[in-house]
Amino acid sequence: MRELKEHYDIIVVGGGPAGLAAAVQAYDQGVKDVLIVERKDKLGGILNQCIHTGFGVQIFGEDLSGPEYADHYVQMAAERKIPVLCGATVLSINQDQSIVISGSGCGVKRITCKALVLSMGCRERSRGAVNIPGSRPSGIFTAGLAQRYINLEGYKMGKDVVILGSGDIGLIMARRLTLEGIHVRMVCELEPFTNGLTRNLVQCLEDFDIPLRLSHTVTMIHGKERLTGVTISRVDENKNPIPGTEELVPCDTLLLSVGLIPENELTLRAGIKIDPVTGGPLVNEHMQTSLPWVFACGNVVHVHDLVDYVTMESCRAATAAVTYIQGELPRFREEIPTEGADAVRYVVPQVITAGDDVEGDLTLYFRVKKPVTNAIIEVSCGDWVFYRSKKLKMIPGEMEQVLIKAELRDTFDAIYQENQTKGMLTVPDVFQLDKQRKGIVDTKLTVSVRSEDDR
Ligand SMILES: Cc1cc2nc3c(=O)[nH]c(=O)nc-3n(C[C@H](O)[C@H](O)[C@H](O)COP(=O)(O)OP(=O)(O)OC[C@H]3O[C@@H](n4cnc5c(N)ncnc54)[C@H](O)[C@@H]3O)c2cc1C
Repeated sequence: MRELKEHYDIIVVGGGPAGLAAAVQAYDQGVKDVLIVERKDKLGGILNQCIHTGFGVQIFGEDLSGPEYADHYVQMAAERKIPVLCGATVLSINQDQSIVISGSGCGVKRITCKALVLSMGCRERSRGAVNIPGSRPSGIFTAGLAQRYINLEGYKMGKDVVILGSGDIGLIMARRLTLEGIHVRMVCELEPFTNGLTRNLVQCLEDFDIPLRLSHTVTMIHGKERLTGVTISRVDENKNPIPGTEELVPCDTLLLSVGLIPENELTLRAGIKIDPVTGGPLVNEHMQTSLPWVFACGNVVHVHDLVDYVTMESCRAATAAVTYIQGELPRFREEIPTEGADAVRYVVPQVITAGDDVEGDLTLYFRVKKPVTNAIIEVSCGDWVFYRSKKLKMIPGEMEQVLIKAELRDTFDAIYQENQTKGMLTVPDVFQLDKQRKGIVDTKLTVSVRSEDDR
C-alpha cells in the first residue's frame, strides 16, 4: 500500500468478508478515506480456506466457493483503490479515537480515525475449552485448522478420523476428508440434534453414509505419541456421560468442531459492553457499540450461518458509520433492550435506540436453543404482542430474522386511533405509547419462539 497516514475517516479492523463489505460500502456512501487493517498476509478471512460452494446465492445470485466470493469483494476494494494494510494486527482501541497497530512492514503505529468498524471474526474452541481427559498425543486438530492444512497447505492429517461436533465446519470437513480418501468413522454430537444447516447434514453426511451419533461425546483420548483411539459415551439430558455406555473407537485423528468464539479481546479492553450469550459486542440497530464511534459486524458480533448475511449486516454497519461521521446518526435518547424468551437463545441487536428520527423498519436476528417444530414466533412489548408468524421447523444451526415494519403499521391501527397518532408508527413510537398506556418504564422488546405442539 501507499504510505500509511496518521489519520483515516474510517478504519476497518479485519479484512474478511465483513471488513471488505464494510469498507466498500463506506466508500460507496461517500467516505473515500477508508483503511482496512488485516493481520494475515491476504484479504478474505476464513473464506480463503472454504473451497466448497454454498456462498453468495443471495448477494451474487450464484453458488460460489469461499475464495470466489472473497475475490469479488477484494476486486471491489481494489477498483476503489481502498488502502489495505495486510500483515498488521490491531493491538488496542483507545478512548482518544485511535488504534495501535503492529506489523512487520509498518512497525508499531498509532492511527486516529473518526469511526472504527470491528470485523475480526471468530476463532475455534480447542480441546482445552471442552476439557477432554486423557493423554496428549498428536493427531488432535480443530476442524478449521484441519481445513486449512488440507485445502491451503496440501497436508493430509490422518487416515482414520472421528469428528466431535456437528456444526457446519464439522459436517463440511466430514465430506472434505471423505473426498480425499480419508475414512471418517463417525461424527459425534453432544446435543440430541445437529448444530449445522440442514443442507450440510444432507449433503455432507447422509450423501456419504457417514454415521452421526447424537447425544454422544468423547470421554477419553488414548495414545502416547500419536492418537490410537477415543472412548465415546452416550450423555443424559444434562449432557453428563452415562456410565456403562463407553465404546472404544480406534482412530488416528480427532477433529474438534466444538464452537466458535468471537474475537473480542480488543473490544473488551476498550471497555465496550459485551453480550455474555453471543460473546460479541452489544450493538444497537445501527450496529453501533456502546462506544459511539465504534461499529461492529460479521462473526465478531455473533456467529453467522451464511456469508450473505454477514455482508448485509456489514453494509448496515458501514452506512451507520458514515452517517455518524457526517453527524447525522440519531443521538442516543433512550435505549430499549431486546431479549429472547422461551426457545430463543439470543437477539441481535441487543438494544434499540429511540430517537425522534428513528425509522420504524427493524430487523431482529436470533437463534433458537433447540429444534422447534410448528413454531410460533412472537415479538412483544410487555404483554402486548405486535408481531406473530409461524414456521414449520426452526433449528439452532440456522440464523432467523424477523422484519417488523408493515406489521407494526397494520397491527397498531387501533392504537393509532386511541392515541390519535398521525402518520407512520415507528418502533420508538410503540414504546412511547406502551409507556403511556401502561406506565411501564423499563419496557423490553421480547422475541419468543414456542411450539404450537406444546399448547
Ligand atoms: C468451515 C466453514 C464453512 C462455511 N461454509 C459456509 C457456506 O457454505 N456458505 C456461507 O454462506 N457461509 C459459510 N461459512 C460462514 C462464513 O464463511 C462466515 O460467516 C464469514 O466468513 C465470517 O466473516 P467475517 O469477516 O466476520 O470473519 P472472518 O472471515 O473470520 O474474517 C475476520 C478477519 O479479521 C482478521 N483479524 C482478526 N483480528 C484482527 C486484528 N486484531 N487485527 C487485524 N486483523 C484481525 C482475521 O485475520 C480475519 O481475516 C462457513 C464458515 C466456516 C468457518
